[in-house]
Amino acid sequence: MTTPAGRPLRRLAEVPVTELRHVSEKRATSLAQMGIESVFDLLTTYPRRYVDRTRQIDLSDLSVGDEIAVFAEVTRTSARRTRQGRALVDVIVDDGTGTLKVVFFNQSWRERQLATGTQAMFFGKVTDYRGARQMTNPVVDVIVGASGQERDPSRVGRVVPIYPASGKAGFTSWEIGGFVEESLRRAGELSDPLSDEVRATYDLIDRTSAFRGIHAPSDLADVPAARRRLVFDEFFRLQLLLALRRSRLERDALGLAHRADVSDLDVAPGSLTTSDSTLVRQFLARHRFALTGAQHRALGHIFGDLASVRPMHRLLQGDVGSGKTVVALTTMLAGLDSGHQAALMAPTEVLAEQHVASLRADLDGLTRRDEGTLGGERPINVALLSGKLKAPERRRLIEQIARGDVDIVVGTHALLTDDVVFQSLGIVVIDEQHRFGVEQRATLRDKGRGVDGTGRDPDLLVMTATPIPRTAALMLFGDLDLTILDEMPRGRQPVATQWVRGDDDLVAWNAVRREVESGHRAFVVCPLVEGSEKIEAASAVAERERLESGPLAGLRVGLLHGQMKTVEKELTMEKFRRGDIQVLVATTVIEVGVDIPEATIMVIEDAWRFGIAQLHQLRGRVGRNDLSSYCYLLGEPTTPDGSARLEALVASHDGFYLAEVDLELRGEGTLLGARQRGRSDLRLASLARDGEMLLLARAAADQLVRERPNLEGLDELVDELRLFVDDEEAQYLFKS
Ligand code: ADP
Ligand code: MG
Repeated sequence: MTTPAGRPLRRLAEVPVTELRHVSEKRATSLAQMGIESVFDLLTTYPRRYVDRTRQIDLSDLSVGDEIAVFAEVTRTSARRTRQGRALVDVIVDDGTGTLKVVFFNQSWRERQLATGTQAMFFGKVTDYRGARQMTNPVVDVIVGASGQERDPSRVGRVVPIYPASGKAGFTSWEIGGFVEESLRRAGELSDPLSDEVRATYDLIDRTSAFRGIHAPSDLADVPAARRRLVFDEFFRLQLLLALRRSRLERDALGLAHRADVSDLDVAPGSLTTSDSTLVRQFLARHRFALTGAQHRALGHIFGDLASVRPMHRLLQGDVGSGKTVVALTTMLAGLDSGHQAALMAPTEVLAEQHVASLRADLDGLTRRDEGTLGGERPINVALLSGKLKAPERRRLIEQIARGDVDIVVGTHALLTDDVVFQSLGIVVIDEQHRFGVEQRATLRDKGRGVDGTGRDPDLLVMTATPIPRTAALMLFGDLDLTILDEMPRGRQPVATQWVRGDDDLVAWNAVRREVESGHRAFVVCPLVEGSEKIEAASAVAERERLESGPLAGLRVGLLHGQMKTVEKELTMEKFRRGDIQVLVATTVIEVGVDIPEATIMVIEDAWRFGIAQLHQLRGRVGRNDLSSYCYLLGEPTTPDGSARLEALVASHDGFYLAEVDLELRGEGTLLGARQRGRSDLRLASLARDGEMLLLARAAADQLVRERPNLEGLDELVDELRLFVDDEEAQYLFKS
């Protein structure tokens, strides 16, 4: 399958940079600071951009007002101070057709950087200074340093790659380029782990051409195809690892076949059931609403998974308000019906508390069989395993869980500690905000196996609080099956959203008054305050006073923040639900999960300080019934991104669309963040930009693992994958 000729890329990771001609021990140390230790690292240090020298403007042709890039040699550099005492560096550059004066303020180090003889790119705007053309504080990329040894004119071709230079490590783009060039030359032909057939299917050039095309293009037109191949490789490796992990999980699984019956899902509210029907039937028959089509479909997939011995690993995505909770609850009840327990993990204590409250309300009156009790039945027992429990309480609860007296355990990470052992854990639901990793999932699975290892792997359902883009989902949760709730409960109207700029916020307060007067409720979300929760709480207290004595005078205004005691919070929410409180001034503690259908208006102060997902989640607290609802975003953003976020919120209610915008604005760094382990393999690829390639790579990886579950005969590829996982994981993935 592989092209036999040529050197495997993997081998280059074993060649230290000191093998290169100009890399001394000292320079190797500096390179290591940039994360570059091997020739492989050098080859995967990609140019940030290119300068096409054939398309340069001659200095003699420059006009005032041009915004341009010029490639020129420094002919004179001098430093002095202005009369106000600012450091000023004057540089004269020459490109053979003319000269230009470049000045730098407060950058005295430029004198050293731009010594006479240095060749560099200068990006900036040409201005007029006392009748002469000049560039002030341009962006500079040194291409050829002033010292003799670097000056190899043969290297300045038509297209000059600009590498991420590092001031700290002391390398210019030119030096890095020199190391890369030598690496490329001495590496020679690289073997290609992709067969001709795969390359043809996905329209990919061969690996050697790709590395040459990205580092030493003879024409800028060579770059896209090179980039395409290298981006594919990055995604392909990651997706292969995920596909392998999935197939290993399946192979090693000791799953449970639950008695989940899809026909139970067709029970409509108001149907007659008897106490010997399944909990799922009884629950749906008594519930206050019928399942949406999307909920029914999702549960159909889930019940299919539950009934099979293969443990479920499923991600449930749905927009805010699409009704994920009832899907999770029905899933857990199916586990109870089969005689097992369920665990629900939430990202925060506040959310865990809310889940417990709403589960208890929803399950009120349902009983399960228990031969140990007098009537042979007992209520379903939902318990909160809070991090706040005192040691004796905690011990008691843990005993109850181990005995099977608790049916549904809700908690945060506290569920993961070693002392929590279940009698028989059948279902795990993780209500997560990108915070639980693969390892934690594995830990939970092991809880099903129990202390003596004789148990079975529970079925796992992961839910995201707000949608994430499909591409990001594949990266973050690529080892899970995906179900999307693509339909909202009936009668939902979009929340009419308005961005009120400047000091015009009276519009918003008047709207609050109007809604409250028609018997509805209002949320006011206080600005995010950096620092502690205490400071944030204090500012919420002040804001409530301001509103009560000012714009909202005469209304019953309440307060909710994270520093209040749990009982105080519950009492406040209860008053708000009843209408004793009409306006609730709150911090982001209301962000997730709060469900007050009478709330029809929300005012978010300094809205631009929040992220898109957070704003969408907040706005999701209103519009939860068939009344018209409103959201006012206040504030004058101080950043372009801030404005872009508010514009997006005004323009769309679609969480999936907003997630795409978010990804574009923030880049994937924040999304993937801590999730990436070991060597980060996304050096070139970008989720926002290369989503299509990701899907192709995923398809290719899935097909390969289907055809060759142990990557038989693909030793070179396996070797390459080893670069990106630690030894333990490699052991797990590659032993056959
Ligand atoms: P989310 O997906 O954001 O967690 P929830 O599960 O909190 O959404 O549901 C949002 C609101 O919609 C809740 O008030 C819930 O009771 C209601 N709801 C959920 N499913 C339905 C349905 N099938 N019909 C009517 N209302 C529903
Ligand atoms: Mg929810």
